[in-house]
Amino acid sequence: MSLNEVVITRAIIDRFMQKLSDYAEVDTAIVGGGPAGLVAAYFLAKAGKKTALFERKLSIGGGMWGGGMMFNEIVVQEEGKEVLDHFGVSSMKYQEGYYTADAVEAVSTICSRAVQAGAKVFNCISVEDVIVKEGAVRGLVVNWSPVEMAGLHVDPLSIEAKAIIDSTGHDTEVLSLIARKADITLNTESGGIMGERSMWADKAEQLTLEHTREICPGVYAAGMAANAAYGGPRMGPIFGGMLLSGKKAAELILSSK
Ligand SMILES: Cc1cc2nc3c(=O)[nH]c(=O)nc-3n(C[C@H](O)[C@H](O)[C@H](O)COP(=O)(O)OP(=O)(O)OC[C@H]3O[C@@H](n4cnc5c(N)ncnc54)[C@H](O)[C@@H]3O)c2cc1C
Repeated sequence: MSLNEVVITRAIIDRFMQKLSDYAEVDTAIVGGGPAGLVAAYFLAKAGKKTALFERKLSIGGGMWGGGMMFNEIVVQEEGKEVLDHFGVSSMKYQEGYYTADAVEAVSTICSRAVQAGAKVFNCISVEDVIVKEGAVRGLVVNWSPVEMAGLHVDPLSIEAKAIIDSTGHDTEVLSLIARKADITLNTESGGIMGERSMWADKAEQLTLEHTREICPGVYAAGMAANAAYGGPRMGPIFGGMLLSGKKAAELILSSK
């Protein structure tokens, strides 16, 4: 059988349009496909929640691919290792309480498990705003990342979501938008974004988990975004807190209402 270019083209268009249309209304919309967002996507999808993850870049995995300073190994503590074990990511003991894992294996395996569990990943799409009605966040406003990068004058589309996770890392992009534009007070000390502090690995890892919360109705902060929103320190290339934070965000959503 000879291959036909038009059939290939139609297959891609039909399948993608169907996927995007199906996921215009979701239970949970996750913004950012780093370790926190991917782990949250996996646990939510596995529990039967209709889950879409939007990632600005072409590649999923956020800051985990590069380990520390592009040395593609990650470090996790005991509790983080349990999450890696759950996903079947191999790890090696370095010394008591410290384990290392191959960053590429970690990202690819967690992403694969999330997608196989039913989460839909939309890469190359940036979240540029939120839908706000009667004082509550109801969804996301999305556009192609190349549109954003080129500064093109193209209107976005919208995704309705019952719950949203901001797992955009240091930039806390969704929460910053909400604080700036939505007249919604975040449940932080200042009511807005507190901003990330200088490095303190041990404290930051604990606080990342503590700061993983519903930060305003229906919106959850996870990963580095949670720590930055609540004014916690950065932790460097230890990733247990990110994995555990994604898991906690999913559990909070699953236990709500
Ligand atoms: C300069 C720099 C310094 C860093 N320093 C530290 C550090 O000291 N300690 C530390 O723990 N981590 C640091 N990191 C990040 C590090 O990789 C994190 O530990 C870890 O990756 C955070 O995981 P996360 O899942 O919270 O977010 P990330 O891995 O950062 O993933 C966030 C993802 O969200 C996507 N995204 C952001 N905004 C949008 C949007 N509007 N729409 C769609 N997608 C979006 C990004 O493309 C990214 O893939 C640093 C990263 C950078 C770039």
